[in-house]
Amino acid sequence: MKTSTPKKFLTLTVCGLLAMVAPVAASDQGAGHDAAASAVTPQATIKKIIEGNDAFRHDHPKNHFDAFQSGQVPAVTIISCSDSRVHTQLFDFEPDNNIFAIRNVGNQIVNAEGSVDYGIHHLPTKVLLVMGHSSCGAIKAAMGDYSGETSGIKAELDTLKPVMAMDDQEGPFNQRWTQNVERNVDFQVNKALELYADKVEAGALAVVGAVYDFNDLWGKGRGALIVVNINGVTDPQEIMNHPALNELSKAEIVTHVGSQAK
Ligand SMILES: [Zn+2]
Repeated sequence: MKTSTPKKFLTLTVCGLLAMVAPVAASDQGAGHDAAASAVTPQATIKKIIEGNDAFRHDHPKNHFDAFQSGQVPAVTIISCSDSRVHTQLFDFEPDNNIFAIRNVGNQIVNAEGSVDYGIHHLPTKVLLVMGHSSCGAIKAAMGDYSGETSGIKAELDTLKPVMAMDDQEGPFNQRWTQNVERNVDFQVNKALELYADKVEAGALAVVGAVYDFNDLWGKGRGALIVVNINGVTDPQEIMNHPALNELSKAEIVTHVGSQAK
């Protein structure tokens, strides 16, 4: 019998999303921050949420929930950024009972270790996907002076310092920003490999590092998910031959493996 998700995990994830996304997203430069969207009233948004839930309930009759009344059996644990442009709908498969999701600014395992542990040790999913994204405001903020931010935001950005230490400071800012997004994914994957070494060595867990690229900065087209790391392997050629990708076609591998940072 699988254990259902304790409420505290859900609360942590939702609070993280609500509390953290706005200030950092606001620091994104020309990346979809819309003044008109900011003018929408709380009442209108709450109305939309409730109407949306009624539409969801209409589209998902009672039997939709039958499979997970007493527990969950997700296939993948995902640690992704809270950014509103990044959602698991990008995989185009049913998220219910399939995706154990943890979100915070900068898709950091180090800030959510307990939640990730839960997905890997207790559910347990056989895939851990660390998913960064193009134009990540957290990475950009960590590259600059964030001393004026709240103590909460500073704490979330301080944990990115080891990633910033890998930045060679060469090249245009936007190029370094993109490379640092990928470096952060590699850093978080390495953290996972420390935490779950036994499972990875036993073949019971694959740690996949990827970037959701809605800007086409990796050259695979807008919206592509780019695999940049599998179990610590970061060379694109080696990733392409990795056994974890055995079921992908040649075309899928070419489209979804890449690198900006190596
Ligand atoms: Zn982000």
